[in-house]
Amino acid sequence: MDSSWDRQRGSELSAFIYSLFTLNYSLFLMAHRINFALSFLLLIVTVAFPLNGLAQKATFPESKTLQGPQNPRLGFVIHGGAGVIKKGSLTPAQEKEYRDKLAEAVLAGYKVLQEGQSGLDAVEIAIRILEDSPLFNAGKGAVFTHEGKNELDSSIMDGKTLAAGAVAGLRHVKNPITLARAVMEKSPHVMMIGDGAEKFAVEQKIELVDEKYFWTQPRWDSLQKVLKEEKEKSEGKKVSVNSASAEPSNRFGTVGAVALDKYGNLAAGTSTGGMTNKKYGRVGDAPIIGAGTYANNNTCAVSATGWGEFFIRLGVARDISALIEYRAMAIQQAADLVIKQKLQNLGGDGGIIAVDKFGNIGISFNSEGMYRAYINSDGKPVVEIYKD
Ligand code: ASP
Repeated sequence: MDSSWDRQRGSELSAFIYSLFTLNYSLFLMAHRINFALSFLLLIVTVAFPLNGLAQKATFPESKTLQGPQNPRLGFVIHGGAGVIKKGSLTPAQEKEYRDKLAEAVLAGYKVLQEGQSGLDAVEIAIRILEDSPLFNAGKGAVFTHEGKNELDSSIMDGKTLAAGAVAGLRHVKNPITLARAVMEKSPHVMMIGDGAEKFAVEQKIELVDEKYFWTQPRWDSLQKVLKEEKEKSEGKKVSVNSASAEPSNRFGTVGAVALDKYGNLAAGTSTGGMTNKKYGRVGDAPIIGAGTYANNNTCAVSATGWGEFFIRLGVARDISALIEYRAMAIQQAADLVIKQKLQNLGGDGGIIAVDKFGNIGISFNSEGMYRAYINSDGKPVVEIYKD
């Protein structure tokens, strides 16, 4: 129990004693018909004091503790990246593969929540499934850097305590989300990068793999196309509209999850290989708390995907939380304001998934599509890819 809580309870108690005292005194004065005006005034003050306290509480909901409401409604949403995913751009077989994997991940996370485990567990389990799939730009399917390497970023946040863990520039960690969680839970730090983060992974007995594990043909081909395009551009040749950088496999593909567990605690996590052809030590929004990931039991949990530089500049995930906290916006309204107006106006693209402290879901993107899945109010999984 923290001291601000003690202080608040102390002042409420003294207000109560004061009210009792003045009530008694005014009744005494009235009973003895001594100074009617004075006793009437005291009576008003006696009633108004506690009412004022109640009104203040209604306008400024207490934020003394981040423990969410005891809420039997669970909330779970995942994404597998936003980008140029037009209807017809995937073959039926490819589309089925994506849908099946998203359904597997959303059901696995939801099962964990139903069994009474934490939102953090659900987020980590679902993200690990997506990291292990070559379909998504995280873990196994990470895109290549300009130098032909894979460098992975990830973060996780606990809405109950505001604890957070983030990792960036990993080259050998099979499941970056698990290392991000270890940074949060087993180190005094929030963010660790590169060799140091991998040293910490060894200490924590977190699985490392050879760099070759992350090599996949489609991602390699994407890099080659972008490099060719870059070269042609520098030589002054006209690049086709249907250029490599506009292909779905090049644009985004990050994964993320947000959860509200049965204890009313929110959690969010994000994992990515970044953007194809990213340069020297570039880090995107996925491991930046407040940009790509944010969770706060007083508001919501958010995971983002898209052109990271824009998400960092806008502090997208935290901004959505702030709109709920300070302007009492509904989750979908807050998400649309940030993605469809602020991000759009700045020239960025991508999207977010979110869940609020009541289990309401928010999904917003300004790109052609976003791989996403959630559990609806009947407890059934819903998988969506395109705009409509
Ligand atoms: N946001 C990621 C980044 O900029 C990319 C993505 O979402 O696919 O690193």
